[in-house]
Amino acid sequence: MHELSIAQALMDIVAEEAARHGLKRVVRVAVRVGALSAVVPEALKFSFDLVKEGTVAAEAELVIEEVPLWGRCQDCGAEGEMDGPLDQCQACGSSRMEILAGRELTIDYIETDEDQSQGG
Ligand SMILES: [Zn+2]
Repeated sequence: MHELSIAQALMDIVAEEAARHGLKRVVRVAVRVGALSAVVPEALKFSFDLVKEGTVAAEAELVIEEVPLWGRCQDCGAEGEMDGPLDQCQACGSSRMEILAGRELTIDYIETDEDQSQGG
């Protein structure tokens, strides 16, 4: 199960960030999931619920923002949403498309219910 290892990797980052900022409780983890990352959001949520047990994020909700595949034509410069990585330019038909977005699988933000502590 692809999503389980991804959820575990995300949780490792969340735990690391929480430790760095001295957070004891994470209430929300937001991730950006690109169309090309081949992640099924529902499966990722399910996996996240499994791996969060016993961590600082045990009560956390996973928020998934799906990022569409977005490209720019290297011939005419037109930008647009793509159906797949081999999609052609809608303006000129070129296949030299540079993918600008849609590959990401990153943490957008981590939210805590604690006040930010002063200094440090
Ligand atoms: Zn073009």
